[in-house]
Amino acid sequence: MKLKRSIGTRMLDYLDPFLLLDHFASNDPADYQAGFPFHPHRGIETVTYLLRGQVDHRDSIGNSGSIGAGDVQWMTAGGGIMHEEMPQPRPEGIDGFQLWVNLPAKLKMSRPRYQGVLANEIPEVQAGGATIRIITGSVDGVDGPVKGIAADPTYLDVSLPSDSSFTHQIPRGQTAFAYVFDGEASFEGDGDRIAHTRLIVFGDGDFVNVTTKDASVRFLLVSGNPLNEPIARYGPFVMNTRDEIEQALRDLRDGTFVWSGPE
Ligand code: MN
Repeated sequence: MKLKRSIGTRMLDYLDPFLLLDHFASNDPADYQAGFPFHPHRGIETVTYLLRGQVDHRDSIGNSGSIGAGDVQWMTAGGGIMHEEMPQPRPEGIDGFQLWVNLPAKLKMSRPRYQGVLANEIPEVQAGGATIRIITGSVDGVDGPVKGIAADPTYLDVSLPSDSSFTHQIPRGQTAFAYVFDGEASFEGDGDRIAHTRLIVFGDGDFVNVTTKDASVRFLLVSGNPLNEPIARYGPFVMNTRDEIEQALRDLRDGTFVWSGPE
């Protein structure tokens, strides 16, 4: 699958609690239709947000269906899930994101959880000139539909027309980034204009001040509480120690990988 990775790279290995950010966009089915056949996850959450196209999915806790344009799948792998994510060939191609959010040690072996949200369940608010889709977190007292996530994240899709501005304060103590995927804007008052596609990392408690001139801009604005825990990472597993990674590999080999703890 052809994609742009901006977190989980050699340059930016980990932006605690965010482990990976992929942007996949293509009009050629050859780039994406191989998809991701059945594979495991443990110790993390995977968040898929689709702008266009369709991804069919199934998992080991009984969920299946299609993620369509504007929909979100927030999948908490916890102690073990198997799933498949298969982009479907469509005339409009595909465009979307996958974010991985780390789980704290105490939730790494928790029961898997799945939150599927349809486009029409995601509230849209106007703030200044901006149109903001709230996937999780809150803006002006409006809450997004995804709840109960360990990192207490905010995940917004912000559209700002030309000659407009938008301000948002990053909650104290949180890690935050913007991913610009359309148009261009200044993110620091009079600073340089940043054009798609770019990742911008903010500091603790920063005010995000976005200003557009001739062009519009659209970006993801995401924040969450860092875990400040050791990580041991191996493909689709992210744990705290190498021993726990080796345990995941043993469980996979022994057929005991999928979560089967108490209710
Ligand atoms: Mn996956």
